This record gives sequence, C-alpha cells and structure tokens, in this order.
Amino acid sequence: MAQAADKYLHLIDIQTLAGVGPKFANKLYNININNLFDLILHLPLRYLDKTFMPKIADIKQDGNYLVEGKVTAQKTINNNKSTILRVSIDDGSGTIDAVFFNIYHSFIQNFVRGRRVLLFGSVKYDVYNQCYQFVHPEAEFLHNQDQVVLEQFLTPIYPLTDKMPQGSMRKIVKSALTYLEENPIEELLPNKNNPYKLSLQEAILQTHYPKPNADHKELKIEDLDSFKRICFEEIVAYQLVLLSIKRNLLHKQAAIIHYNDNIQQQLLNLLSFKPTNAQLRVFNEITTDLNKAQAMMRLVHGDVGSGKTLVAIMTLAQVAANGAQSVLLAPTELLAIQHFYKINSILSKLNIKVVLLNSSLSKKDKSLVLKDISTGIAQVIIGTHAIFQAGVNYKNLQLAIIDEQHRFGVEQREALLNKAPKDMAMHQIAMTATPIPRTLQLALYSDLDVSIIDELPRGRKPIETAIIHENRKNDVIKRVENICSKGVQVYWVCPLIEESENIDASSAIQIHKLLQEKLPNLNIGLVHGALSSLQKNLVMDRFVKGQINILVATTVIEVGVDVPNASVMIIENADRLGLAQLHQLRGRVGRGGTQSYCLLLHKDVDNNDIARQRLNIMRKTNDGFEIAKQDLILRGPGDIVGTAQSGFNNFKVADVNRDFALVEEARTVAYDLIKTDESLCDRLILRWFSHTMEQNDKFEI
Ligand code: ADP
Ligand code: MG
Repeated sequence: MAQAADKYLHLIDIQTLAGVGPKFANKLYNININNLFDLILHLPLRYLDKTFMPKIADIKQDGNYLVEGKVTAQKTINNNKSTILRVSIDDGSGTIDAVFFNIYHSFIQNFVRGRRVLLFGSVKYDVYNQCYQFVHPEAEFLHNQDQVVLEQFLTPIYPLTDKMPQGSMRKIVKSALTYLEENPIEELLPNKNNPYKLSLQEAILQTHYPKPNADHKELKIEDLDSFKRICFEEIVAYQLVLLSIKRNLLHKQAAIIHYNDNIQQQLLNLLSFKPTNAQLRVFNEITTDLNKAQAMMRLVHGDVGSGKTLVAIMTLAQVAANGAQSVLLAPTELLAIQHFYKINSILSKLNIKVVLLNSSLSKKDKSLVLKDISTGIAQVIIGTHAIFQAGVNYKNLQLAIIDEQHRFGVEQREALLNKAPKDMAMHQIAMTATPIPRTLQLALYSDLDVSIIDELPRGRKPIETAIIHENRKNDVIKRVENICSKGVQVYWVCPLIEESENIDASSAIQIHKLLQEKLPNLNIGLVHGALSSLQKNLVMDRFVKGQINILVATTVIEVGVDVPNASVMIIENADRLGLAQLHQLRGRVGRGGTQSYCLLLHKDVDNNDIARQRLNIMRKTNDGFEIAKQDLILRGPGDIVGTAQSGFNNFKVADVNRDFALVEEARTVAYDLIKTDESLCDRLILRWFSHTMEQNDKFEI
C-alpha cells in the first residue's frame, strides 16, 4: 500500500541501511537525519557534471570539466612549506596543464609520461601563463584497456558532517533512493493542484540526479523544477498546519468577553497621554472580536514605538474585568520583566492582579505564583516560555498576547493555545514590529487577521541618524560627555560580549571599561546576556530611574525595551548588522518628545558595498516599511523576518526567504484541499510536519 510505504519511510531508521552502523548513524542523527524520509530529503548543495567530455581544444571558458588524455610533462616546485605539481595532459586536440597542491610523493609518481589519466574539476584561466588550467582536480589513472563511461546524470555533492567523506554520504543517500524506487512514496497532490506535473517520487529522484543542461552550464538546485516541486508541497503542508490549527479552534467555542467601558475609562484616566487614533481603532477591532464566541486570531502590526503595549494593556484589562485570565508572552526575560513593571504599575491601580512567571524565581516564589495562577487569583500572567510549560495550570485562560511574535514558532503558539480551558478555544493576539513583505506575511501568518497601528504618538520627532567611522570614536565620546551633562541618557550597543578571534567585533565589556576610564564623572552601566536576569534587571532599573547616564549593552536590549528618557543610540559595528536589527535597536530611542539621535559606528565600510547602502538607508528613513522595502531591493527577501527564530526552521527543504514566489499558489492549493479532502490534508501534514505535531494525538503515526 502506497500510504503504508510513506509511513514506512518515517519509521525506518537509517541504521537499517546496509553500511550504516551506529557510529555513522550518530553523525547523521546530529544533523537531524534520523530516518529514510530525512535521508531522501538530504538534497545536494550542488552538482558535478561528468556527463560529457569536451576536447581540450574546445575548453574556452572557466568551469568544471572532465577530460581524458596522456601525460606529456610534469614538474614539481618545492616551496619551503609545500610541494606544487604541474603536469601537462594531451588528448590529441590540444594540451592543458593541471596544478596540484600539497600532494603525496606516491601521487606524483603516478604521473609518468604517456600514462592515461582522467581529470575532473575546476578549470580557470591563468593570467600569468595565458592559458586555461585545472586547479587541483580529481585525477584517476587508467590502464590502456580501460573504457571511459560517461555518467548519464549529474553527480550530487551533499552537505556533510563531522569528517564524513563525500563518497560515503553519496552512497548512503543512493541506497535510500534505491529503497524509494522499490517502494514508491504516495503521491498526495492531486493533478490539478500540482503546477509542476511531477510526482513527489519523480521530483526527489530528479533532484538528487538531474539531467545536465543542454549547454553544460553549471546547474543550481534552486532552478530545478523538481526541487521547486518538493518545496511547494512542503509549503502547502505548512499552510495546512496553520489552517488546521484555525479549523480546530473554530470547532470550539471561545469565551465571549464583553466590552467594559467603566474599566476602560478608569484606565485612560491613569495615563499621562491620550491614545492615538490608530491605537483606539486597533483596540476597537480587538474588542469587536472578543465579543464573539469564536476565537480571535489577530496580528497587531505597528512600527517600533507605535505603542503596541498600550493596546495590550487595554485588552488585558477588558479580559480581567470579565473574570478571565490572560497571558502576555515575551521573547526575552528582560522584556518580560520590563513589561511586568510597566503593566503592573497601571493594572494594579485597577485592582487587577498581575504576576511575573520567569525562570529566575526562587522555588518558593514560583510555587506561590503557580498557585495563584491555578486558583485564578492571578489575572494577568507575564513571562517567557515558562508560561506554557507543563507544570503551569490555569484556572480560566481566555487570551494569549504574544509580543514580538516573529521570535516564536508555530509549535510554541500551539503549546500556548493548549492551555485553554478544556474544549474551549483561546483568543490570541500576536504583536510584531517587523515589517515584512505581503507574501511572507501570508506564509507566516496566513491564519491571522491583521490590524495595523499606522500612526506614531503625537510629538515624536524623527530620529536623526549619522554614519561615523570607528576612528572618530574619541570625538563621539566627547560629544556623549557633553550631552550627558545635560541630562540625556545614552545607549551604547556592542554586538558581542567577549573578544572573539573569528569576529572582529567590539565587546561590550571593553567599551564599558574604556568609557569608565574616559568619563570618570559619569555613571556607566553594563548589560549583556551572560548576566542573570536579576542582575540585568537591576541595571535596567537604574537606567530607567536615570541613575545611569550611559548603558553599554549587547543586543539583549534589541526588542521591546522602553526607556523614553534615553534619546541617543550608539551602535558599534553597525555595518555587521542587518537592517531589521538596526531598525529595532534604533527604535529604543525616539520614544519621548525630545529630539533623538542614532550614531552608526563602522569600520571601512566603503569596501563593502551592501553594508554601506544599508547604513545609508538607515540614515535616510525612520519608516520600518520603507526600510523593509529597500532591504528587499538590496538583497532579495533575505532575513527580514528573522526566520532563524521563527517557525520556519521547521522546514526540511523549503525556505520562504528563497521560495517566497511559491507561497501564494501554495496557499490557494491549501485552501482548496482543506475544503475538499480532510484526510488528504492530514496525510500531507503528517508527512511534512509530524515532528512539530508530536504532542497532538490527532497526528499520531
Ligand atoms: P512598541 O510599539 O514598540 O511596543 P511601546 O508600546 O513600547 O512601543 O511604546 C513606546 C512608548 O510610547 C512608550 O514609552 C509608551 O508609553 C509611549 N506611548 C504609547 N502610546 C502613546 C501615546 N498615545 N501617546 C504618547 N506616548 C505613547
Ligand atoms: Mg513592544
């Protein structure tokens, strides 16, 4: 049965393949290749073309070639360190040289004059000798009677692990493919939903061993239809995961949260400012959703500093006023703590009990907090991943707000949603400042309705940004001294905390020391990831209270941190950071009414064109959407969404940053399938995402 065969591939451990013992298997397990399905999807990085053999005289451009000829000359050159071998090969049409580096004596001895040899590898034009030559090719020595048989297909080069030879990897994958040929994988995409007219079976086989291009130009895996066919199916399956989460939620009832104007008015009275129209509009969209027995699934999108937290606070108050619990999930402890202080300072005045659940609580405090959560005394629970762990039991959790949503994966969202009361669906809000192109938004959040806070609070002045060479750091320090004397607070961000041999980045610790030496009259704080969250928070707290003039920090302060009085942001090694990260960091300032500044320090950026353009974009605009747009133009979709941390690292093959062109159609197909064939959808999800769905018994194998 075809379906059984499909399940089979997931269930067959790689050790059942001939030649894969425990030692070898362990190396593969380390790179997440556990079963035959993983193995057949371990796809080539690139290919070698051994399907044709040009005449030497016809080699007229750089490339990878296979030639056969006789050795006509050889010469070794001994440097003090290494031996270089230069040999000449003649095939009757002409001669070509090959150079080899660091080779054994026994290898050199093979190149006797008149010997038949097969060379394969990279040919480059040598400007010095004015001819083409092989650079360290593979060589195979032939006997006179040997026939050269050309390959029919390209030869795959696979990603490797832990000193595993390419040949071994090729052999293992090949034997998995042989198994596949004997036990074909079930075709799940209906013909009409398959734009590639290739079955998954064919697509996998062809991607490992494609036919060469007619002109033997180098072939890239991303350009193969067979490869796109595989990615397409995986993206369809991912869309089905999202749609089925939604479908499951919609099958259940959600608690109706009635709008409570009394609590809203009390809350507004506590604020020192008026909400913007955009904040009120988004809040209104939320309360309208909450008033239904269907779970809200909403993405709140607003640039850094647009005031998403206030929208969250107003919503938390509504849910509490309805006697239900809410959680606010933050990606870092630092941000969770900051949120706790800020939110508690407001909601406690409305008699709403807010608790912080984080990993640095003492055992005793933790058990108290857990008790308050399970009895319902705690109405708003703020924390990091800790809040959806197994030991946390909620009394009546009806709303989850996920701050900086792009930092979380779909399986974390699911784990959180599973904390809803039995047989109920939970309302959820995902908040993000990361501006992303529409297609990526569809790919990541196709199940969510979107609200946009498209207005900054009144009186904000655009942050002025300057690009400054590192060698002017002393001037910068003098300027900083001057502005600090006027009461302004400064962030000084360094990407790494220790000097690293590999990356020439400044360390926060060293800058901290330098600033202490040069500015003895100022208070200079330091936060980095190696501090406990308690220590981090003590420093942050002093910064918030104005007791620290300059806060030296790593990128731990990247997201969410809000200290309105800080109005200067200095970023070391800005040329090494991506635009999304620079924008987030800069967004830490410009949060009050004072003019804010951002100084981007760099080293010799002129040598690196893209980096220079990135910094220029930062200088020209403060608008997150504009920055995202420019980033796209600069280098394609890139890593705008920070996908390393999003749900997309669950993909085996697809990469939305690369395959974004497939998303729209995949989404249409997913909608079509979920309407017509639920069991087919379940099988597609099972095939591609059983690893993320493990906790969900519905998807048990
Ligand atoms: P983000 O959207 O980046 O999460 P925050 O919610 O942290 O932004 O808000 C940024 C700053 O703006 C905070 O100091 C907050 O108190 C302030 N703020 C929020 N809304 C308004 C408003 N309507 N008017 C003035 N300041 C506001
Ligand atoms: Mg925020």
